[in-house]
Amino acid sequence: MLPTPKRSESPTVKLSPRGTSRLKSGHVWVYRSDIVSTNDAPPGSVVSVTDHRGQFLGTALYSSSSQIAIRMISTEKISREPVKDFPALLRQRIANAIAYRERIVRNTDAYRLIFSEADFLPGLIVDRYSDILSLQILTQAIDADPVRQVLLSELTQHFHPASIVERVDPRVRELETLPPRESGLLQGEKTSTIITMNGVQFHFDALTGQKTGAFLDQRENYFAAAHYAHGEALDVFCYQGGFALHLAPRCSHVTGVDSSRPALEVADQNAALNASDFHASDLHASKFQASEFHASESHKIEWIEANAFDLLKDYSAAGKQYDTIVLDPPAFAKSKRDLDAALRGYKELNLRALKMLRPSGILVTCSCSYHVSQSDFLEMLAGAALDARRALRLLEVRGQSKDHPVLLNVPETSYLKCVIASVNN
Ligand code: SAH
Repeated sequence: MLPTPKRSESPTVKLSPRGTSRLKSGHVWVYRSDIVSTNDAPPGSVVSVTDHRGQFLGTALYSSSSQIAIRMISTEKISREPVKDFPALLRQRIANAIAYRERIVRNTDAYRLIFSEADFLPGLIVDRYSDILSLQILTQAIDADPVRQVLLSELTQHFHPASIVERVDPRVRELETLPPRESGLLQGEKTSTIITMNGVQFHFDALTGQKTGAFLDQRENYFAAAHYAHGEALDVFCYQGGFALHLAPRCSHVTGVDSSRPALEVADQNAALNASDFHASDLHASKFQASEFHASESHKIEWIEANAFDLLKDYSAAGKQYDTIVLDPPAFAKSKRDLDAALRGYKELNLRALKMLRPSGILVTCSCSYHVSQSDFLEMLAGAALDARRALRLLEVRGQSKDHPVLLNVPETSYLKCVIASVNN
């Protein structure tokens, strides 16, 4: 047994046997219900964690309000001593996260630099979009001023970015009982830039858009999907054209569908940025169907503003057919309770898409719901294939891009599924 450190400057949080066994199984979170005593730990403090007998288990960041009260930053397996200098640890972890990306990330100037628990920096997300860095702070401990200062100085020193912005989710701040704060620039003045993923260019606006602005977690899946795509393609839930623009050089025609007009406006601008790469003999931009704004002479990509469920229903009823279909809906299951309804939603979409694929067609189907496991998703897809009377061959079962690492003992770090399959009848 490890000796309990005699004295630590940080408060000590004592866990129940259930909390202890959760940590021993490799997880890094402990829920409030598994805490025996907090020793008046201040909100956001760095605390020593012990089992119910006082045996040292590691060091954690403490939240006084979240259900996840404890997020470990070090365990007794890493160090038998409590973390004394959190800013120094922070600097080291940031450097490690950057070094990991230098080894792993290719063909892009936009990627996730720090992915919270998966980079041993719980509550912190940093994305790089070329010369703009975008950060999200999700916990009391990371919101503290000294932590912010270390973060900004390390990021500046490594990247010399034109600017650093913070994207704020008001709901998260409320849950962490942090004072309200607006999204905005923390440093510099630049709020938009152009990023290049796999040779495809995208406009990036740091203060608008979903997530921190783009779906970086799909970057490697765009590239994989393009490898199999052919013929006429339909990109359903296309947002700003991530899949559509990657498919365009491989396909005779691409239709992108989304219910968000602002997203489609950016998709259209993105298409114009890449027009010369789509096809040497077919220089074009793109056009919106039934839109009052600019429709160019191009026929290669079109964007349709519609509810995807209605559109798929209408198109399949009308007998429309495609060679490649991408489905990348928003998360249907926000909690475990939504699982059945989510699976029904996924099945409806996939069933319709399968019916509309020509023989040898390619289905690229995604789910970003953490609560839908990979096996749930594959089972749903198998059911949809059976109902559609299509034989499906799995080409690739994929997840999120490697700059969003999956920490094996922390299942919550793995959320994205992307299945590429071919229809064989
Ligand atoms: N494939 C995109 C990301 C899709 S995110 C990419 O790689 O960048 C999900 C998208 O679904 C969002 O753009 C959202 O506007 C859109 N959406 C949500 N509900 C929809 C619906 N019912 N019909 C069509 N689009 C919808």
